Amino acid sequence: MSGILVVMEQREGSWHRMSWETLAAGQRLAAQMGLKGYAVVVGQGIGGVAQELARKKLDHVHAVEHALLATYTADGFTAALEQLIRKFNPSIVLFPHTYQVRDFAPKLATRFNQVLVSDSVGFRVVEGAPIFVRQLFQGKLNADVRLGGAEPHFASIQAGAFRADQVEDGAAEIVQFAPQLSADMLRAKPLEPFRESARAVDLTSADIIVSVGRGIKEKDNIPIVEELAKALGAELAASRPICDSGWLPMERQVGSSGQTVSPKMYMAVGISGAIQHLVGMKGAKTIVAINKDANAPIFEVADYGIVGDLFEIVPALVEEVKKAKG
Ligand SMILES: Cc1cc2nc3c(=O)[nH]c(=O)nc-3n(C[C@H](O)[C@H](O)[C@H](O)COP(=O)(O)OP(=O)(O)OC[C@H]3O[C@@H](n4cnc5c(N)ncnc54)[C@H](O)[C@@H]3O)c2cc1C
Repeated sequence: MSGILVVMEQREGSWHRMSWETLAAGQRLAAQMGLKGYAVVVGQGIGGVAQELARKKLDHVHAVEHALLATYTADGFTAALEQLIRKFNPSIVLFPHTYQVRDFAPKLATRFNQVLVSDSVGFRVVEGAPIFVRQLFQGKLNADVRLGGAEPHFASIQAGAFRADQVEDGAAEIVQFAPQLSADMLRAKPLEPFRESARAVDLTSADIIVSVGRGIKEKDNIPIVEELAKALGAELAASRPICDSGWLPMERQVGSSGQTVSPKMYMAVGISGAIQHLVGMKGAKTIVAINKDANAPIFEVADYGIVGDLFEIVPALVEEVKKAKG
């Protein structure tokens, strides 16, 4: 089919939100390379999710269905997708960089003597060929990765690198694909899937988030930032060390092992901007950073930056916000 194939991830009929971000990336890559765009969903009883996918701008949607794909296994998903890819020959296969994809996609790529260009934060097309961008050394360097060897090529897209709300709508035909699978091909026996406990705080629906990092120095100082959140009508969030220390509950953690948020405004107070934090918040529409280190990586993603001491700046901001709100 010589196009861009996006592998979407769902569990029990609910999409992994990174799937949509990757679909947005796939649509853009297909348009820039002048190729067709396809998406695939794998599982059992996936008619509903395939229908939803068919309302997006794609040439067609592959629904890969089999009883042995009802629950995820690396062997099952690798075999099913290998068969689909061999039949339809896409040029590039894109995945969201989820835990599940990390588990099986490198193995799938090696079936084609290829590698997975993992956790890409972007791409550009030069003379018709894509160059993927990956971050090195905690985001301090960007590396350009050219695709070598025979197609298909494989790449995964980092959380927050593309915006899910930029997926284009359209109408696509659903093409069913029944892979040849047998129980003896699956070496792993899945147990009950891990379920996260219900969260009392849903940062994902907050319009404004004020997030505090290790620059706050000690637990007793948290109310300084809490007051700013209150004045702005914002939710309070934090970087991982703050939650690891028990200064704020885990459910307020933003980042790769916390929540992924995309508020209208994200204010990072005393947060350095490590890659594991950035992946959770860089989808915010406006990012404001307060940090005393002008070279802190957070300023690379910030729309507005204040270089200075948060213990002076935050109380002054609270005062101004209160004044402005009357
Ligand atoms: C597998 C893995 C998963 C991870 N998951 C996450 C995650 O989900 N979320 C997350 O946040 N991290 C995560 N991390 C940790 C991450 O790598 C960083 O260590 C962490 O984000 C750093 O937090 P910080 O920015 O608050 O602290 P620091 O990196 O210590 O930064 C503190 C910042 O405060 C500034 N500062 C100090 N004093 C002041 C002051 N008075 N005024 C203004 N600024 C000041 C400093 O200049 C500095 O930039 C993970 C790490 C690993 C290995």
